Amino acid sequence: DSILSLRGLRKSFGATEIIRGVDLELRPGERRALIGPNGAGKSTLFHLVSGNLAPTSGEVIFDGQRITGWAPQRINRLGLARSFQITNIFPKLTVFENIRLALMRHHERQYTFWRVIDRLAGLRAATETLLEKVRLQAQAQTLAGEMSYSEQRSLELAMTLASDPKAILLDEPMAGMSSEETHYTMELIREVTAGRALLIVEHDMDVVFALADRISVLVYGEVVATGTPEQIRNHQGVREAYLGEEAAA
Ligand code: ADP
Ligand code: MG
Ligand code: MG
Repeated sequence: DSILSLRGLRKSFGATEIIRGVDLELRPGERRALIGPNGAGKSTLFHLVSGNLAPTSGEVIFDGQRITGWAPQRINRLGLARSFQITNIFPKLTVFENIRLALMRHHERQYTFWRVIDRLAGLRAATETLLEKVRLQAQAQTLAGEMSYSEQRSLELAMTLASDPKAILLDEPMAGMSSEETHYTMELIREVTAGRALLIVEHDMDVVFALADRISVLVYGEVVATGTPEQIRNHQGVREAYLGEEAAA
């Protein structure tokens, strides 16, 4: 009944083991935050799940299938999407064109799904639906590269939704944002991930506590605690190891 299971995942770079036996279960529709100090291995763990890196040992199960070692595109088609830190956006294309391209990429293997004549109309409608979801209708014809950072993040979210994923991985989506932009993006993430599982790495603890159903704490490649925001807030070891300064403040 988990949508995503990590079982005994390990990853070494040379002689250094960065991910040291991680088990994690994500239920369908669950919002999980992954927190931990810099260098804990959070991004590496995402790479192992999305297929960008192969684990040294252990298994990744998604939607009932053992996806360990699969190529990223194949994992994406199964319904696991990952944000690409804006690098996936084409700055010289409009917002509309970027979203349409993401939809075309996802449907490229399903051309017969839409009859040739219906395809363009279908694409336009699907693009407009996504524009509306991330509230970028007014910027449809704006060049992506000319938008603000947080607007580019919204566009990136729309492109992530193009594959209608069952689960989404977001790695520090609010990095570099003002507190106003952070709040806006947090609400948008809450809206667009409704009904989907979410695994999010985020350093802003206000965002983490507001957004997550459950939190896992990764320290030096090991999950040292998992619980509700309330349990994590009151977890003595976590307060000392990671939240220490904030808990004392
Ligand atoms: P986090 O996202 O939690 O800040 P990372 O997963 O980015 O942590 O990095 C965890 C550790 O793994 C760091 O010490 C980093 O230097 C190391 N690391 C990450 N990628 C590589 C790599 N390709 N080769 C060697 N070391 C790496
Ligand atoms: Mg980091
Ligand atoms: Mg990271």
